[in-house]
Amino acid sequence: MKALVYQGPGKMAWQDKAAPVIDKPTDAIVRITRTTICGTDLHILKGDVPTVTPGRTLGHEGVGIVESVGDGVSNFKPGDHVLISCISACGRCLNCKRQLYAHCDDGGWILGHLIDGTQAEYVRIPHADNSLHPIPEGADEEALVMLSDILPTGLEIGVLNGQVKPGDTVVIVGAGPVGMAALLTAQFYSPARLVMVDMDANRLDTARQLGATHAFNAAEGDIVERVMALTGGRGADVAIEAVGIPATFEVCQEIIAAGGHIANVGVHGTSVNLHLEKLWIRNITLTTGLVSTNTTPMLLQTVQAGTLSPGSLVTHRFALDDIEEAYRVFGDAAREKAMKVILEA
Ligand code: NAD
Ligand code: ZN
Repeated sequence: MKALVYQGPGKMAWQDKAAPVIDKPTDAIVRITRTTICGTDLHILKGDVPTVTPGRTLGHEGVGIVESVGDGVSNFKPGDHVLISCISACGRCLNCKRQLYAHCDDGGWILGHLIDGTQAEYVRIPHADNSLHPIPEGADEEALVMLSDILPTGLEIGVLNGQVKPGDTVVIVGAGPVGMAALLTAQFYSPARLVMVDMDANRLDTARQLGATHAFNAAEGDIVERVMALTGGRGADVAIEAVGIPATFEVCQEIIAAGGHIANVGVHGTSVNLHLEKLWIRNITLTTGLVSTNTTPMLLQTVQAGTLSPGSLVTHRFALDDIEEAYRVFGDAAREKAMKVILEA
């Protein structure tokens, strides 16, 4: 088969590779029909994630058709149309029972990280019963690829950790796919104001179309002053950090209202300053974490019901064979006006 193989920092190739086979009875092999590229893939490709070693097939988002299953798989059979969770977990150990799928005692594997991923013609999914989700007849595959990672991340680590409530002022710093996922899912909870912050004018326009009540360009004025002016000096009830750099984490600490929640989603490659000396006395809660994907079944229902339309994040489509060009476009997102890039097998 063909697969996108990591070959060390800055290097990858769409090349021939042995197709995966059932290794454990709980495995399934899935033929990929659609996959996409995540910001985290770009971090990996740069070499920011040293636990990913050369030879690894990249990618952790996808949908496809079950090709074969091990003897221990009872929920799926060959021919089933499935959504793949970015994290493969048993669902039965203590950590899984606490919804910490990324910390499953028997893996907690992020696809395309410690095991081969979805940017290939075929992928092996360990713990298939808990890590695949049936796709209802007639569902929109393109929308569902967004549920492998970015939608659960925005919901679980942004909106739910941030405890968004009706009437809240929610500020989301970073209007990339993950920030947009928080924007879409925050709307389930009826906040009064949804403020998106970015420096990319095109992404801010998209944010307005997807429900942001305000879009602040960080390149055109002080964000702290603008949030304070908007809220009469009170600040944001919820600040969601969806960039992953010290400066934006700092902004979240400065804009948060008394009693507010800072939900850090961004992956930080360097240390940040935490101003506990200022936060404790204002009853601020700070959360952070790695996505679990335990909300994926609920998100599937909202997409089916039409109350969530994550397909609106797709800006570009390529044939799977053209994945290297798709990486170039996604890696130059501001100039290419790219949000999510779909690869079709
Ligand atoms: P992205 O790079 O596409 O989006 C980040 C956005 O931040 C861009 O639109 C960029 O213009 C904007 N930005 C950069 N600097 C800024 C600044 N100073 N002020 C305002 N905006 C600024 O990334 P993404 O795919 O949307 O992911 C966002 C973050 O979430 C990344 O750090 C990613 O690694 C992380 N992530 C975390 C989890 C998790 O489980 N916690 C899961 C997936 C992704
Ligand atoms: Zn991802």
